[in-house]
Amino acid sequence: MISVDEALQKVLSYVEVLEPERKPILACLGQVLAEDVYSTIDIPPLDNSAMDGYALRAEDTGGANESSPRHLAVVGGLAAGALPTKEVGPGTAIRIMTGAPLPQGADVVVRFEDTDEVNRRSCGGDLAQIGILCQAQKGLNIRRRGEDIARGDLVLNEGAVLRPQEIGVLASLGHSTALVIRRPVVAILSTGDELVAVDRPLAAGKIFDSNTYTVAAEVSRYGGIPKILGIGRDSVQSLTAKLNEGLDADMLITSGGVSKGDYDVVKDVLAQHGEIDFWTVCMKPGKPLAFGVMTRVEAGYAKGIPHLGLPGNPVSSMITFEQFARPAILKMMGKKILAKPTIRAIMEDRVNNSDGRRIFARVAVARRGHQYHASLTGPQGSGILTSMVRANGLAVIPESSQGAKPGDTIAVQMLDWAEDQGDVKVVPAVSIVGKSQSGKTLLMEQLITEFKKRGYKVAALKHSRGGMEIDRPGKDTWRFAQAGSDAVLISSPDKLALIRQLDHDLGIDEIRPIIGTEFDLILAEGFRKSRTPKIEVHRRELGDDLSCAPDELSAVVTDGPLNAPVVQFPRSDTAAIADFIESNFVLNAGTMPPCPERREV
Ligand code: AMP
Ligand code: MG
Repeated sequence: MISVDEALQKVLSYVEVLEPERKPILACLGQVLAEDVYSTIDIPPLDNSAMDGYALRAEDTGGANESSPRHLAVVGGLAAGALPTKEVGPGTAIRIMTGAPLPQGADVVVRFEDTDEVNRRSCGGDLAQIGILCQAQKGLNIRRRGEDIARGDLVLNEGAVLRPQEIGVLASLGHSTALVIRRPVVAILSTGDELVAVDRPLAAGKIFDSNTYTVAAEVSRYGGIPKILGIGRDSVQSLTAKLNEGLDADMLITSGGVSKGDYDVVKDVLAQHGEIDFWTVCMKPGKPLAFGVMTRVEAGYAKGIPHLGLPGNPVSSMITFEQFARPAILKMMGKKILAKPTIRAIMEDRVNNSDGRRIFARVAVARRGHQYHASLTGPQGSGILTSMVRANGLAVIPESSQGAKPGDTIAVQMLDWAEDQGDVKVVPAVSIVGKSQSGKTLLMEQLITEFKKRGYKVAALKHSRGGMEIDRPGKDTWRFAQAGSDAVLISSPDKLALIRQLDHDLGIDEIRPIIGTEFDLILAEGFRKSRTPKIEVHRRELGDDLSCAPDELSAVVTDGPLNAPVVQFPRSDTAAIADFIESNFVLNAGTMPPCPERREV
């Protein structure tokens, strides 16, 4: 059995970034640019007006206001697209529309609202003159030539993914085409004697072929071009004929026929026509997977096309597509970020992991307050495709764990989020617990100093049972809170404090999002009941017992050996304690080990 990560590495090692093609910009949406794009023009091409108004000389507006307007002679008008024929001299103005080039002599545009034009019109006044109602600043309402893009600028970099705005910029530079990495053509074949095409009548004992559609839609979603081969029957001849039709594609995806059943002939066909590995991947669903290269002969030499044989069960085939085919397609398209964004969510249901595989559980993720919560989408059978319909995420239960239980923080791949959205960063937290007088604060100080020395950005969090020094009655902040505000912030040139009214004692998981994501580590003092990793400080003179059960603790820091099944450090060895925190919780933050269960005592 190979791991999911190993399988992905192998699949990716077989596919290459495809060659570039030049095509109309509108057909390039979502593709990766294969050239640097420089500008040969200035945008805007000339200084021009940002408003409808009057172009004039700022010095002619000195002292102007509503009650004493400055009157200027209107010597012309300019629309967008026209070129100025007249100059603005002293005491004159030119009526100008947004986008029209600024006439010589003018150094400001005063918008209509700041003139008496409307008034003048309504009382049939003389439009050969205009009253300016405010003193204008030189340069106001003028867009400078080249202020967006200057001739010679590198505007778009090779490797950029073309979104609507990049396509717009290409158009504004006068490009009707772009050079982009070609989209991969993916041939799709479903296998099975039981399958019926969706446009045929359903005979007894048969089922409609859904995998073709799920897989083809996935291929399109990630930018590939699906080439549907239809349904191959469970015979070597049928499959061989169908597969031959797909050999001009960049990748071949079949579903079904890769497990150990009597009619699982895909492997026989593939073994004859290529180099195929059959893997049992350490995942659930989706254990049987075939991968390799099919050979086709092209202009006299053999060329291999990567082939991915997905399991037939609709959920298995979709989940294995997500884990292996999707990254392969993205790599062929020249994309750099191949992983789905992962968030951490509080699990609401139990998932047992009985045989040490990585479980991809279908979950519905919802955000409540500052936390994501994930609940199972009903029965998890690998044939139950509606479990995917209700899902927006795949909870990843590590192979090393026994499963997840309600309340656990778990990683969830967000199925509908774009890859480049990135992971939601979770700042790791460790809390220092212990009896009163055990020396928690001293250890906190030592650890903060040590982590700062190692270059980390540290947030220290203290849990206080009593009141708060900074929230003193009578002070302004206290008065704001009395008036009912839910949060009071006080800032000064060098500090910021947040005082939030709470309706319950918050745990670290609830405080973490308020702290934000700019820190590398949260060191907390107290929070004995929290689910974050805990290190207890133990002092022998306070008794041999601990304040937490040993199996709830990640380690104990003690002034003498303790007879308990838990990692122990001597008080004096701050560096070793910091090493332990660093390697277990900071460097592995993305795969934080599940925290020990909280037991009520
Ligand atoms: P197999 O991997 O071929 O043994 O198929 C496993 C299960 O998935 C069987 O119950 C098949 O009927 C079902 N299955 C296989 N291919 C498809 C398909 N294209 N559409 C829907 N169900 C399928
Ligand atoms: Mg089959």
